[in-house]
Amino acid sequence: MRTDGWPSTPTSVCCPKAKPVPGLYAAGDICSEAMLKHVANHEARVVSHNLENPRDLRQARTFAVPAAVFSHPEIAFVGMTEAEAVDSIGQVNVTVKVQKYGDTAYGWAMEDMNGLAKVVADRRTGEILGAHVVGTQSSNLIQPIVQAMSFGQDAYTAARGQYWIHPALTEVIENALLGLDVPIPDSAPL
Ligand SMILES: Cc1cc2nc3c(=O)[nH]c(=O)nc-3n(C[C@H](O)[C@H](O)[C@H](O)COP(=O)(O)OP(=O)(O)OC[C@H]3O[C@@H](n4cnc5c(N)ncnc54)[C@H](O)[C@@H]3O)c2cc1C
Repeated sequence: MRTDGWPSTPTSVCCPKAKPVPGLYAAGDICSEAMLKHVANHEARVVSHNLENPRDLRQARTFAVPAAVFSHPEIAFVGMTEAEAVDSIGQVNVTVKVQKYGDTAYGWAMEDMNGLAKVVADRRTGEILGAHVVGTQSSNLIQPIVQAMSFGQDAYTAARGQYWIHPALTEVIENALLGLDVPIPDSAPL
């Protein structure tokens, strides 16, 4: 099934080149690239809104869609991989930081030798392009990155614009963001 990005507008079925069928609507796995529960829920809200407000159509958000594998260790990811970022904007413009859990206070206390967070950003702007976290509670740890990406916060502002509880495991994400080679905005928080 192919849609035009407006989940409540007519949709074509089973053929990428087919024209949308008037009166046929779709949301969720059947029309989404990301077959995830949170995406289906969002699209259901968009459909509901669009059906009630045909003059104020909203588009489903396809940016910064996170996912996790609840394995051991847990794996969570959002946005681009390093390779995808390099393909997209070129190696020279990509900055990456891999932060080990064990190099933060909580990770050290857990004697964690394996957990890590990898953040990928645009070196020129500090835009966060993606992140991967492997280890304890990674599906929770990645949420500040999802939030920063969703609201357009650059990496430095996301790191320094808020307090991070010490010695919580979230310091893994704080340190990953601070380890990126990105510009410090003019009015950057301290
Ligand atoms: C094993 C498994 C594990 C998953 N784990 C996760 C996870 O951890 N996190 C996550 O985000 N996503 C997970 N997903 C994906 C998630 O379940 C889907 O993305 C989400 O349910 C999609 O919602 P949906 O409404 O599009 O489809 P569905 O939830 O599949 O709902 C479709 C409904 O349509 C009904 N239906 C089908 N055919 C007909 C018909 N002809 N007439 C009437 N009704 C019909 C079905 O019975 C079903 O109730 C998992 C999926 C599977 C299979």
